[in-house]
Order: sequence, then C-alpha cells, then structure tokens
Amino acid sequence: MLKTDRYKAFVAYFSAQQPNPVTELHYNSPFELLVAVILSAQCTDKRINQVTPALFNRFPTPESLAASTPDEVYTYIKSVSYPNNKAKHLVGMAKVLVEEFHGVVPSGTDDLQKMPGVGRKTANVISSVVYQEPAIAVDTHVFRVSNRLGLTHHAKTPLATEIQLMKHLPKELLGVAHHWLILHGRYICVARTPKCEICPLTHFCKYFEQMNTETALRKKEQEQLQKAKKLQKSKKLNRLVAQLKKHNMPNTVDIAD
Ligand code: SF4
Repeated sequence: MLKTDRYKAFVAYFSAQQPNPVTELHYNSPFELLVAVILSAQCTDKRINQVTPALFNRFPTPESLAASTPDEVYTYIKSVSYPNNKAKHLVGMAKVLVEEFHGVVPSGTDDLQKMPGVGRKTANVISSVVYQEPAIAVDTHVFRVSNRLGLTHHAKTPLATEIQLMKHLPKELLGVAHHWLILHGRYICVARTPKCEICPLTHFCKYFEQMNTETALRKKEQEQLQKAKKLQKSKKLNRLVAQLKKHNMPNTVDIAD
C-alpha cells in the first residue's frame, strides 16, 4: 500500500469516528493547560488530573505561582513523576510568563520554549490546542503509532516524525491528528503488545501487514520442512525394503500381505 493511501485511510477513519477529539487533561485556561502539560511529561493524564484541582486552587494565576517557591509547589505535586524538577520548572515558567509575557501564554513555539520546562512537544501542544496553530506535538504514543501505521518511514526522532507528519497531513488536521494518535496509542496500539485483534486500522496498518506476511512466510517454511521430512522418510523406507528384498528377507509389507 502506498503511503498516500495510508494517510487517506487514516484521515477517513478518524474523521468519521472521532471528528472532535480533545485532550484528557483537565483545564480551564491556557495557563492551566500549560501547567498540566508540563506536569504530564512521563506521567499519566489520570494522575495529573488528580493533583491539578488543588494546585490550580492554590495558584490560580501566573502571578501567584511566580510568587511561590519550588518547595511549596512540590507539596501539591509530589505524587507525579519527577516532582522536584517539575516544581522548579513551574515556578520558573510562571516567572518568565509574568516578566516577559505579562502573564499571557504566548502562541509562538519559539516564545513558549523560552520558559523553563517547555520543550518542543509542550510548545506544540499549547500552540495547537490553545491557538489552533498548524503544529503537531510528538510524544511517545504519536511517535510509536505513526511508525507502526506506516505514516512515517525510518523516523528515528520525534522531530523526524513531526516533519513527516506535517508534510503529509492537511494543516487543518494536525491538531486533531495529534489526539487521534495519542488516544489510539493509549488504548489500542499500546507499547508492548498492540491489541491488533480489536484494532479497526488493520486494513492499512503497515505493522499488521508485515506481521501477517511474516506469519504466512513462517507457515509456508514449516509446511515445506514437513514435506521434505516426509519425502526423506519414504526414501529411507524404500531403500530398506529394496535391501530386504535383495536378501530374500520378509519385510513388514510382505508380512502384512
Ligand atoms: S493493527 Fe496493531 S499495530 Fe496496527 S495500529 Fe492497530 S494495534 Fe497498532
């Protein structure tokens, strides 16, 4: 199947089934989304949603977070992964947000990345979700699922994945495609053992196609091996019968007769 056909099938399926996917992180403002996305690095959205209500209640604005200390923030986020670093990042981010951007979350990815804790992925999420800019954030799910589906080819880094997806997906779909890939990776195309048996994308998935081809090839090899063994066995048997006959000795075939 051609890559362009895979993209067409991908867009056709998800446009019909999940036309309006949204992030599973809970937030009420760009500032809260920024905080939640920073916290979500290498952690589950479920866990982040457990800690953010109290955090947002205590720090409702960039100014209140900027005036705090990493030690205080830590007490609210200690159950997420890497709480020490994330507490420092949150306070640092809020300080830059207040000092450089007057407390307004910027839309440009370059500006966003000036803040501590905000890398390319986080910047793309904010830019795309909050400002509907044509950007696609590549996290571990997007990276893995794009590769398995065959939407990317030899993409070894998140940046390579991002470039290939941006090249082939229509601009207006980049934001939703990010959610499609994340949700599919989170619930069906999981990292260790993808649930291909319940996946609705098998008809265009490259990984599935390859696995089926490999299984078919292995089956064919097994069948050929069995045939060869049988042939060898019957040849040996024929030789044995011929020898017995040569020496006028009864063989099992004669006895049976
Ligand atoms: S068929 Fe399997 S590998 Fe392909 S997307 Fe679905 S779950 Fe993932």
